[in-house]
Amino acid sequence: MIGGGLVGAAIGYGLARQGLKVTLLDEGDVALRAARGNFGLVWVQSKGPGVPEYQHWTRLSSDRWPGLAAELRETTGVDCAHERRGGFAICLTEDELEQRRQMLEVLRRQAGAVEFEYEILDHGALARRVPLIGPEVVGASYTPYDGAVHPLYLLRALHAGLLRHGARYEPNARVNAVHAAPHDFRIEARGTAHAAPRLVLAAGLGSRELAPLAGLHAPLRPVRGQILATERVAPAIPLTQKIRQMSEGALLIGDSFEEAGYDDSTAPQVLSALAARAVRTFPFLREVQLVRSWAALRVMSPDGLPIYEQSARFPGAFLASCHSGVTLAAAHAYPYAEAVARGALPDELARFASRRFDVPKAA
Ligand SMILES: Cc1cc2nc3c(=O)[nH]c(=O)nc-3n(C[C@H](O)[C@H](O)[C@H](O)COP(=O)(O)OP(=O)(O)OC[C@H]3O[C@@H](n4cnc5c(N)ncnc54)[C@H](O)[C@@H]3O)c2cc1C
Repeated sequence: MIGGGLVGAAIGYGLARQGLKVTLLDEGDVALRAARGNFGLVWVQSKGPGVPEYQHWTRLSSDRWPGLAAELRETTGVDCAHERRGGFAICLTEDELEQRRQMLEVLRRQAGAVEFEYEILDHGALARRVPLIGPEVVGASYTPYDGAVHPLYLLRALHAGLLRHGARYEPNARVNAVHAAPHDFRIEARGTAHAAPRLVLAAGLGSRELAPLAGLHAPLRPVRGQILATERVAPAIPLTQKIRQMSEGALLIGDSFEEAGYDDSTAPQVLSALAARAVRTFPFLREVQLVRSWAALRVMSPDGLPIYEQSARFPGAFLASCHSGVTLAAAHAYPYAEAVARGALPDELARFASRRFDVPKAA
């Protein structure tokens, strides 16, 4: 396996728990690592309008999350603070609320056999459920499927879990060469050669360069996100898409979507826009001290959907990439890892193969 961020660690954990012999080569904390800088939502309510396969995959993952959290706690003693009490997407204008309504109705219709319930709440109905909202809030959408974890505990739990199941973890092992033949992969990292009959490439943004070496295609780009963290306060708010309270009390305020190349520094004007919206949403935040801010780079495909595939040229090489690695951790640890162990990805994942990007552009 190449890559020990959230995607690689979840799949590695899933393979090791099935008894497979796993070696995880990871550049580690020096690398660009979205796993260290994310918001920690297990978010369902906006995933997949127009793409039922993505909606179902996300929902499957959120349904399996309670089991993953319990299993990780039992195996490793690390509690990743998973909660699934539903989530609110707060709207500050009528337009925002109307767009949410339309999107959620598309999701409800396309959900098929999987029921999809949602609520659209006006200011009054929301204020009864979330009394601290500000007067400018127009309303919110709510679904019961959304949840959250502590993302750093999650990464730690997955790493501890794969070690507990006998996997080998090699940190500071930046892979610089892959020599591929069907079911025979030679991988060079830090001057050491490794051989394996199967390869999973899950190196986040690093997959872009490595993929062609194994007959895979990962046209990924960085999308920057910035987050603010406050001092700890007494439990105050339920889960919302842009402001959440961590188990220890700190509030996270997020998170921007910016095309900034590989620049992962923070920008004051973006942070102040996040803070301003947060104060309009919850006026009590005006009195709460900010203590930290950071930026991290999302791993984004051209259409924002995951990329999952097995190499046609070099069978045995798999690629896994997505921009919601927290949400999809249970899908990666269970059905994705089970498919890799069987040696074939299921038809339900065919929609996510990179050949969808091969469509020639119109003249
Ligand atoms: C601001 C922000 C907020 C987010 N919020 C959420 C959220 O609320 N919910 C959610 O589901 N997702 C969220 N995400 C996305 C989530 O963090 C990512 O989907 C996830 O971290 C991607 O996992 P990954 O393993 O593909 O990449 P990363 O986590 O970036 O890890 C890549 C790994 O590959 C390794 N690597 C790279 N190149 C090499 C190489 N050549 N050799 C060996 N190892 C290599 C690195 O060391 C690293 O460990 C957010 C992301 C950001 C940036």
